[in-house]
Amino acid sequence: MLEVKGILNGVVLDHIKAGKGLEVFHMLKLNKIDAPVVLLMNVGSKDLGKKDIIKIEDKVDFNFDILSLIDTHITVNIIKNDKRVEKFTVEVPEEIIGHIECKNPRCITNFDDYVNPTFHKYAEDDKVLEYVCSFCEEITKFKK
Ligand SMILES: [Zn+2]
Repeated sequence: MLEVKGILNGVVLDHIKAGKGLEVFHMLKLNKIDAPVVLLMNVGSKDLGKKDIIKIEDKVDFNFDILSLIDTHITVNIIKNDKRVEKFTVEVPEEIIGHIECKNPRCITNFDDYVNPTFHKYAEDDKVLEYVCSFCEEITKFKK
């Protein structure tokens, strides 16, 4: 098994569905942060068969709940001084500001850089999450 050094301070995102790690990476804009980041793909997992893991060595202040748009089973582990001090699963947010784009090509949020796209949860079932844009009322769907 591939061994990667644990992190001293930071965050481990675990139980990401195999193949979704890169989406998580981009949603958190991890290519823009100035800290060590490790993306592990297709790691063996007892419950999932295979999973992806992301480790970020940094003081991190992310809105982890937006990750539920990619995968609602992601576990967030907060590490301090080499110990796990907190563990939680992402929760489907009622409101999302930024991070996602309105799918309506004529929506003002896709033209004006000063307008932060804002969405509210509209519907949720086993397979789909729907968010409604506060500016144009278009509904954007996410597959679970
Ligand atoms: Zn819109």
